Amino acid sequence: MERQQTPPNAAVDMDRRLSADDTFQFACGPHVPCFTECCAKLELMLTPYDCLRLKKRLAITSAEFLDTYAIVRWRTVHGLPEVLLQMEAEGERKCPFVTPRGCSLYEDRPAACRIYPLGRASTSHPMDGSHREFYFTVREAHCRGFEETRLWTVREWLSDQGLEEYNRLNDLLMELYVLKSRGRAVPLEEKHLQMFFMACYNTEKFRDFIFNSPFLQRFDVEGPVVVALRNDDTALLEFAFRWLRFALFREPTLAVRGTAGKTPGA
Ligand code: SF4
Ligand code: SF4
Repeated sequence: MERQQTPPNAAVDMDRRLSADDTFQFACGPHVPCFTECCAKLELMLTPYDCLRLKKRLAITSAEFLDTYAIVRWRTVHGLPEVLLQMEAEGERKCPFVTPRGCSLYEDRPAACRIYPLGRASTSHPMDGSHREFYFTVREAHCRGFEETRLWTVREWLSDQGLEEYNRLNDLLMELYVLKSRGRAVPLEEKHLQMFFMACYNTEKFRDFIFNSPFLQRFDVEGPVVVALRNDDTALLEFAFRWLRFALFREPTLAVRGTAGKTPGA
């Protein structure tokens, strides 16, 4: 299994697989002649953690964020809904968050904006399932950052761009895609896709579902986890992935009260 994130129409240097200590030459900032040119006409996929960070930054609800800034695709290659950032409809089709001074929510920009000009791919060994990842450069004609002399290791770039937490949360999503690609999902009906979408992308609705339905009577959720779910949106998202593994993929990630040892979903 291999996965990667790259902008469309970009030259991808897959011949040179980069590991954490390999180097590449790049710099970006107001000094480059192409500053903010890349923040337009994008097909920019937003992960659940991206949406979480953005709606918090904008101090709006998930529903308001999705209504105002997102396009939801229900039919996708992997069969699970996905969310794209809505570019401005007119003119240069700019990102709604770009300004002449750069990204207006830089500290909370999406993972795809952070990792560029790198791409990340991972493979799972078909026999033992062991996980390997590598990086590669993504070169777009308009991007002049490669002309700069600053040298980075991949590790330095990931740290500088604050990608560790994004990768950690986004890998939990990717694991669901992998399970789906391996045919491990229950037959997915409309209600399952709605469930996936709510848990991944609508923080308030998922929290309401947990605390204002029989959910906690049915599932034996650890006390400290329940406390975290009330106040911590990131903990809630991690729990959403855990719940989806149970509900859509029959994995024993949650205990049903009074049914120790029972097959998930049975
Ligand atoms: S979110 Fe920020 S960095 Fe990403 S495309 Fe928009 S303005 Fe550019
Ligand atoms: S095109 Fe490349 S160098 Fe220019 S602003 Fe975007 S990422 Fe930076």
